[in-house]
Amino acid sequence: MSKYLVEKYRKLKPYTPGEQPKNKVLTKLNTNESPYPPGPATIAALHAGQAADLRLYSDPDSAALKEALADLYKVQKNHVFVANGSDDILNFAFMAFAGEGGKVYFPEISYGFYEVFADLYGCDFVKVPLQADFSINPTDYVCKDGMIVIANPNAPTGQALSLQQVEEIVRTNLESVVLIDEAYVDFGAESAVELIHKYENLLVVQTFSKSRSMAGARLGFAMAQTGLISDLEKIKFSTNPYNVNRLTSAAGVAALSENSYYMENCRRIIETRTETKDRLTALGFAVVPSKANFLFAKSPDIPGAVLYEALRERGILVRHFDKAVIDQYNRITIGTREEMQQFLSAVEEILREYK
Ligand code: PMP
Repeated sequence: MSKYLVEKYRKLKPYTPGEQPKNKVLTKLNTNESPYPPGPATIAALHAGQAADLRLYSDPDSAALKEALADLYKVQKNHVFVANGSDDILNFAFMAFAGEGGKVYFPEISYGFYEVFADLYGCDFVKVPLQADFSINPTDYVCKDGMIVIANPNAPTGQALSLQQVEEIVRTNLESVVLIDEAYVDFGAESAVELIHKYENLLVVQTFSKSRSMAGARLGFAMAQTGLISDLEKIKFSTNPYNVNRLTSAAGVAALSENSYYMENCRRIIETRTETKDRLTALGFAVVPSKANFLFAKSPDIPGAVLYEALRERGILVRHFDKAVIDQYNRITIGTREEMQQFLSAVEEILREYK
């Protein structure tokens, strides 16, 4: 830290991203990426002509992308916002709708970035505990006096609220923004997008990083009524108007044109998730019911951190959070069938050796 850093940032604890290994690992199950490549149209969109056009700025309105998203999600074009990954949108939302001293509520165990943004902007935040089974109790969020941020499905647990439960939260907080972070919604949860037509305080955030195999392209989008969208645009045009680059934009439009390819991959991931859950349960693990592309699981026979290290030694990366309440668990991204087979064989071997 230099002596020049502004006082209020000196104690900031930045988000720690999951490891992106430099050397090849056998199986990477630690950051909830898709195990499947982008579709053929998405890859074809990244052609030489596009690359040559990199000399030109990207469209600051991302019109083509917004049109394609509006078509797919049956909303108006001015109900859509796009940004450099959904983290970019979360950043803008905390800045725009909470800010210094603003009240924010989010689950105690959830996406770690919420607390980082709340700290960054000096929000007055409340971490609401989960229930004993790691589910979110929707009544904890009824009639609150500040912004509410909920990942649905939640991370790292994978549990999801129903549409009815989400609506109850939105309906009882009309004076505040309710942000539903649907990063993992395509893996089996119910989206709240249809509710944006009814509620002006609802902001639904999604991403191309998980279900559409584009984590490296950085593309997130949000849907809401024009009020919230224009607020986000104001922040974006006050920070970085070209936040979605040309290549990403072209790939995003192409990805939406072959949406069924990606939804078929989601179906396969859900199938593999069920198989993996059954196998882990048979090995004695407690596995949290998941509607996401990962499982959150603990074994009664081996501490979470020990299992994490033993897997790592075998070239298999999962995610372990060194945090009270969840430190016996590991979060395991669902890979291909073959990757999950490698993972399960390694777990069996580790358990045999550990006992
Ligand atoms: N929300 C949740 C719940 C996440 O787990 C992630 C991925 N780490 C994000 C948002 C951010 O995803 P991205 O910026 O890649 O869209």
